Amino acid sequence: MAITRFAPSPTGYLHIGGLRTALYSYLWAKKTNGEFKLRIEDTDQARNSEDAVKAILEAFQWVGMPSDCSIEYQSKRFDIYKKYIDKLLEEGKAYRCYMSKDELAQLRAKQEANKQTPRYDGTWRPEDGKTLPPIPKDIDPVIRIKAPLEGKIEFDDGIKGFMSFDANQVDDFIIARSNGVPTYNFVVAVDDSLMGIDEVLRGDDHLTNTPKQIVVYNALGFKIPKFYHMPMINNPQGKKLSKRDGAMDVMEYKRLGYLPEALLNFLVRLGWSNGDQEIFSMDEMLELFDPNNINKSASSYNAEKLLWLNSHYIKNVTNQRLIKELEYFDCKIDGHDKKEMLLDLCKERANTLIELKTSIENILLTPTSYDKKGVKKFIKENTIDMLNSYIQILKDNQQNLHIPTDIEGVTKPFIQENELKFPQLFQPIRISLTGGTQAPSVYDIIAILGIEETIKRLEVAISQNFGKE
Ligand code: GLU
Repeated sequence: MAITRFAPSPTGYLHIGGLRTALYSYLWAKKTNGEFKLRIEDTDQARNSEDAVKAILEAFQWVGMPSDCSIEYQSKRFDIYKKYIDKLLEEGKAYRCYMSKDELAQLRAKQEANKQTPRYDGTWRPEDGKTLPPIPKDIDPVIRIKAPLEGKIEFDDGIKGFMSFDANQVDDFIIARSNGVPTYNFVVAVDDSLMGIDEVLRGDDHLTNTPKQIVVYNALGFKIPKFYHMPMINNPQGKKLSKRDGAMDVMEYKRLGYLPEALLNFLVRLGWSNGDQEIFSMDEMLELFDPNNINKSASSYNAEKLLWLNSHYIKNVTNQRLIKELEYFDCKIDGHDKKEMLLDLCKERANTLIELKTSIENILLTPTSYDKKGVKKFIKENTIDMLNSYIQILKDNQQNLHIPTDIEGVTKPFIQENELKFPQLFQPIRISLTGGTQAPSVYDIIAILGIEETIKRLEVAISQNFGKE
């Protein structure tokens, strides 16, 4: 039973790297009958924005991964952090440091000149028998935690394997600033403990924070969670994923016409696999996902694959669902009597919901102009006579023409009797009905529009001579 969390900092929108971390955490919690918790890491007041919090929560709602507890906000937990800082001070595991900014800068400059890694030198660290400098009056102290001076800080990472850091790589870092605001590594460790998180999945950009957090866990006597530090998602060139490559706001994928199923399926495969299986329903993800099988190397973003997955899900979700999704794009077809036929036809060739909307509107909206190239190629001298005869056939059989095969039943004999080639009839019909030559099967379009509307559009095209001068 794993209790996992996702802990975004609302300094920007949720991007897909974050969503993948959240997905893996969610899957692992659910698979083990545990809990998935959301925590908003909003202690950095200068960089946080409420809009970003809203956008993050909206993204979670869109993909359908709710938190199992009420969402925790670090900005509302300052009393809790203070309590633990006071506890460490009382127990002598943390101390006040009055080093001024200038002194700290000098120390750093000296260390850098000596080619040493900058680190706090322990001036204010209390030790038995050590006399501390006199307390300056004009300085509000920071609070530093006593990090171990020697030995190793070690943990077994579920992806990276056994990790061992020399303790002296971690100095007595600040856990509360002079204004009392606690620092990042301190609050993460406190929160993960108090929220009962026992498995932490996060990006390996956080790997260097982990030894510091372990110092906090140890100082507070908290149990250290199991860590999984996941490799990054790169662009196809192996570089850091940029906005242009797809590292954009998760909600941008919605606006571009992706289904959340496709995005989650795409993300689950970015860094994890189950043989060569590509399509995973949520149930399958839940059955098969195991963080111990996350790849050790970085994965690479593949926009075509996401598009391919999206077209798969567009074909496979219910029409009712598509109708609902299309409403977001202001495409309302729920009241159309042939909506099922319309969707069955159009979803076959749509990679995104926007493409689906476009091909639906291509059929439903009366053309406002006729494709010039198509007109030049397919509208010949005898075309109008041919269309007029075809209109007559439609009128004569109007009562019996409902489904595509009905229309095929009268159209094929017409083609044979008049010794036509299919495009000779079909392309002028397509141009009349949709304005262009790219539309799907003529029988389907006519069935969807109905005979009355079909005749009307044919007659309009004829009367306008297809826009020819
Ligand atoms: N708030 C951190 C971030 O957005 C994540 C912290 C963590 O996962 O430990 O990168």
